[in-house]
Amino acid sequence: MPISEIANLDPYFPERRQMVESQLRARSIHDERVLEAMLRIPRHEFVSAEFESQAYADHPIPIGENQTISQPFIVAVSLQALSLQGGESVLEVGTGSGYQTALLAVLAHQVNSIERHQTLARSAEAVLVKLGLNNVKIVVGDGTHGLPEFAPYDAILISAAAPSIPRNLLDQLAEEGRMVIPVGPPHAQELQLVRKRDGKAVVEVIEGCRFVPLIGAEGY
Ligand code: SAH
Repeated sequence: MPISEIANLDPYFPERRQMVESQLRARSIHDERVLEAMLRIPRHEFVSAEFESQAYADHPIPIGENQTISQPFIVAVSLQALSLQGGESVLEVGTGSGYQTALLAVLAHQVNSIERHQTLARSAEAVLVKLGLNNVKIVVGDGTHGLPEFAPYDAILISAAAPSIPRNLLDQLAEEGRMVIPVGPPHAQELQLVRKRDGKAVVEVIEGCRFVPLIGAEGY
């Protein structure tokens, strides 16, 4: 659907445009594909009715199970770092609300996303189906194991804080692929862009961040 049509149909469109301009473009987000995807995807559909009026605000929001939907800016920074062109196969760990999953579905070819809480996985799935995004598969389980059956992935996005880069995930990343992952202790991490060169991780720090912990075999 063209953006102009979405603008006419969605009462939240002005708030979403405001979010894109003031929280994203005015800061360091310049990838036009990311900006357009975030203008297109109705973030308010991914939060409960109680929080709908805050859906476009500059902060994380509770989504149940003690988890949060990430702040729009941190989602945009992560997506921009992946430099997706549209043909990629992507693995996401930590589906949560499914908001970032929806953006990945618009920006890449195929998305596999793992969530450890079944309730969150099911409600994310329902919103993705409602939005007609059918290039996404959601799996319930411990994402630190990755999903070897569909590896290698051109891009891997982890949206929970890890003590270090999980070995399984690096193994499942394609050579020259990109991974974005918050690494560090539970209360403050650095968002890292990891590129795989000759089988090894080349790490660049994007910025400081604070995510909920990655719980699992190679997590906390
Ligand atoms: N991108 C999501 C972020 C959700 S918060 C959003 O914007 O909605 C991080 C999510 O990671 C939580 O839902 C949490 O349950 C999940 N998580 C934590 N450890 C995990 C693991 N080992 N495997 C899969 N999901 C995990």
